[in-house]
Amino acid sequence: MKTIFEKSSGVDGILLDADITSCDCISSKYLRQGEIGLPKLSELEVMRHYKELSDRNFCIEKGFYPLGSCTMKYNPKVNELLASLEGFTNLHPLSSDEDSQGALELMYKLQETLKIITGMSAVSLQPCAGAHGELSGMMVIKKFFETKNDKRTKVLVSDSAHGTNPASAKMCGFEIVQIKSNNRGQIDIEDLKANLDKNVAAIMMTNPNTLGLFEENVLEISKLMHENGSLLYYDGANFNAIMGYTNPYIMGFDVVHLNLHKTFATPHGGGGPGAGPICVTEELKQYLPSPIIDFNGKNYFRNYNLKHSIGKVKAFYGNFGVLVKAYAYILMMGQNLKKASGDAVLNANYIKEKLKEKYLLPYDEPCMHEFVLSGDKQKEYGVSTIGIAKRLMDYNIHPPTVYFPLIVHEAIMIEPTESESKTVLDNFIEAMLKIADEIEKNPSFVAESPHTTPVKRVDETLAARHPDLKA
Ligand SMILES: *Cc1c(COP(=O)(O)O)cnc(C)c1O
Repeated sequence: MKTIFEKSSGVDGILLDADITSCDCISSKYLRQGEIGLPKLSELEVMRHYKELSDRNFCIEKGFYPLGSCTMKYNPKVNELLASLEGFTNLHPLSSDEDSQGALELMYKLQETLKIITGMSAVSLQPCAGAHGELSGMMVIKKFFETKNDKRTKVLVSDSAHGTNPASAKMCGFEIVQIKSNNRGQIDIEDLKANLDKNVAAIMMTNPNTLGLFEENVLEISKLMHENGSLLYYDGANFNAIMGYTNPYIMGFDVVHLNLHKTFATPHGGGGPGAGPICVTEELKQYLPSPIIDFNGKNYFRNYNLKHSIGKVKAFYGNFGVLVKAYAYILMMGQNLKKASGDAVLNANYIKEKLKEKYLLPYDEPCMHEFVLSGDKQKEYGVSTIGIAKRLMDYNIHPPTVYFPLIVHEAIMIEPTESESKTVLDNFIEAMLKIADEIEKNPSFVAESPHTTPVKRVDETLAARHPDLKA
């Protein structure tokens, strides 16, 4: 496909109605000397160009997107409508509390709702992504020990945790100690005990872990940690696995982050804005990033009065638009949030059971919202997981997450989400089974896929290092 510059046809589609050169309000040294160099196309040609580009792209509105750990579910369009209400979009972040009552009320009520959903006592809406929530949460934990003059330096992270967990703890200045999983994909309690000492500030757990498995011994783990004076951090990015059934407070956690852009429905593929609020116990409330939003019985206000606050982690108050969408989604769903989790878990188990005949399932256990296959059987025919992922694109299905988690060889991590129908799931199962068949009959065909997409097989390293955007 040609770039818009190559398409330039000489039609000047831009009308400049003011001749800026005749204005003496701008010093001549700032005035452009030559042509601006924009492509010359009509408005219609420009629209066709971008429509063609967008048609080549893949999105949730175009097909199934079972990208493990990313929760690519349906984001109701009414959320967008509400987030674009003028009262929200035209409000300046420097407006006084008095002039921002509506926005503050929404944020306060969202905080209250997230408290119910997580079981926690206080919330900061500032962090703007899951990883940002992790960093903020770990800063809270760090400061907690600092104010107690307790110099703990280590954080435990299991090898089945999300990759951002050790990264966040490390960025916060902690030393990472990796805890092994056992052969059932659960945290190895003996290994945990062996690594637990008075230098351990916290454990970061993704539960369900990245294998999609619920940590059965979570209560024992939280008891062990608390007895040691350590805290527990819960990665709640994938809350659609447990929402309404249990919560991190019941499990004994002290800090949790949520990914509003995943669980609470904001479009987030391709770098869209996110929100990763952190929720903490009463004991840690005074450490939250300030301000939090408060209510004095009459007015909503920004509360900067937190004794040990780690300070601001984001300009102003977070990604407000995402907060509006999340609140709209929560109100719309109500008690059905629990049903969403139930459906997410049911959908994942349904696919898992249908695929485990043809694909290796290293941890054959009931899963939560996702599960991990291994492409090892297919590898015997010379096709690695990347070939399976690419071939799915020929079936108009977005590839699952691959080669993660690292503890599964040739990993294929599948998360169907709650918003897909049985027909869509069956279609995916059929495609996966067909691909397994194709691999047995004609492995090189699959290994060289995709065959029908605008861009065929690329050298991924070369493409990342030297992107050729004209291809
Ligand atoms: C997505 C995800 C994250 C990171 O969230 P971002 O918003 O991408 O920073 C962290 N942990 C888990 C388990 C996730 O699925």
